[in-house]
Amino acid sequence: MVKYKNGLWVCELCGAGYEDKSLSEKCEHWCGTHKSCNLEIIKKARKFVRIL
Ligand SMILES: [Zn+2]
Repeated sequence: MVKYKNGLWVCELCGAGYEDKSLSEKCEHWCGTHKSCNLEIIKKARKFVRIL
């Protein structure tokens, strides 16, 4: 599940934070199925949040 943190929607798998919830969900779906990040999606991320 994506997390809302400090004003951004964060993909829990890679830690990329987005202003748009649908982007974070796309990212998380990609991360979960491909075990890597999609550059087209990740370049829209505002910042990366370290998730532990
Ligand atoms: Zn991700």
